[in-house]
Amino acid sequence: MKILVINTGSSSIKYVLFEMTNHQVLAKGLVDRIGEANSSLTNSTFIPEVNKTRLETSIPNHSEGLELVVKTLTDPQTGIIKDTNEIMAVGHRVVHGGERFSEPVEIDKDVKAKIKELIALAPLHNPSNLEGINVAEKFFPNAKQIAVFDTAFHQSMPAKSFRYPIPNRLYTEEKIRVYGMHGTSHSYVSMQLISELDKPAKETSVISIHLGNGCSMAAVKGGQCIDTSMGLSPLAGLMMGTRSGDLDPAVPFYLGTTVGMSLPDIDKMLNKESGLKGIAGSNDMRDVLEKRAAGDENATLAIDMYVQRIKKYIGAYAAELGALDAIAFTAGIGENSAQLRELVCEGMRVLGLELDLEKNKQPGPGNQCISTENSVAQIWVIPTNEELEIAIQSERVIST
Ligand code: AMP
Repeated sequence: MKILVINTGSSSIKYVLFEMTNHQVLAKGLVDRIGEANSSLTNSTFIPEVNKTRLETSIPNHSEGLELVVKTLTDPQTGIIKDTNEIMAVGHRVVHGGERFSEPVEIDKDVKAKIKELIALAPLHNPSNLEGINVAEKFFPNAKQIAVFDTAFHQSMPAKSFRYPIPNRLYTEEKIRVYGMHGTSHSYVSMQLISELDKPAKETSVISIHLGNGCSMAAVKGGQCIDTSMGLSPLAGLMMGTRSGDLDPAVPFYLGTTVGMSLPDIDKMLNKESGLKGIAGSNDMRDVLEKRAAGDENATLAIDMYVQRIKKYIGAYAAELGALDAIAFTAGIGENSAQLRELVCEGMRVLGLELDLEKNKQPGPGNQCISTENSVAQIWVIPTNEELEIAIQSERVIST
């Protein structure tokens, strides 16, 4: 069975075509800079001779972008499928599913209406996700359209984790609560991690640590998320590439009333100019680590702050879980930076975590345990695969 996974952004469409019998990637690509002067499509396939195609052409909207993807996938010379009927389902990444969606669903009119309603909670993402669904319905009329929500994995959290201590009516009337993000990644990584442990899934307590440009963590007990670090929006929790993470909620008031910043300026500053960028001048962890190695004081402080916040959440989540079997690092930084993992795990024997320094340096491809034999709780590197998780969840929906 073939499933196409689509992640539609405001000016891009990322796609991966999977053969589900062996989870092989048949083709993947990116339509980039939609609506801009220099738009392009890059496609690669698993067949070496037609490995890579790049096309620079005018792509004025998402519809023409997806049409180009269809043409590329069905091209008689270089295509991977004969026609779109070979694709049984299109799995869409949808950022916000609110409280309504705790599972992936087949898309119908009602689902689309609800995704539209949720635009208020994800104004930057849900509109383009919806656009992706509309154009996919046009080009894949015989495929089932499935929505996989980035918030869904966190819907299992108890009220004590998802409620903010503010007046009840702000929850009941305005739905102000913790939703959490990166759910597809945390779901994939925690399930992979649990499958590596020598214990029944329902008895496990694990922590998933997603460190990319955006960063978040999830505490997972018996396979269910019980707490997560992002909140109403992706601004909460850990320090990130350009986002501040947790702050005293009074900071924006002070900036507004005393410093005289406008709400849009505060919003921009906290989302785009803070985090590693705000402290070290770059949002790219590689640059920050290089600067730190060269003795740059701001970069050193940025890394200290970044690491300290991850440690805080590991400690908090271990306490909430009441046990700790394993933690897993994932995403750009979590998978690739041995140095960062070492700094996070330093002095964590108090929680039963002991890193094997040699294994940490070369975790190798795939899931790898990087803790010592004596470590009470295990430490893993688990490469995330959000697209595969979306495909697997979509397959589950169409098979039931
Ligand atoms: P992602 O959002 O998952 O693509 O992750 C992006 C982040 O991963 C950026 O901050 C990159 O600097 C960081 N990254 C990628 N490779 C490495 C590496 N080898 N060492 C440190 N950071 C890395």
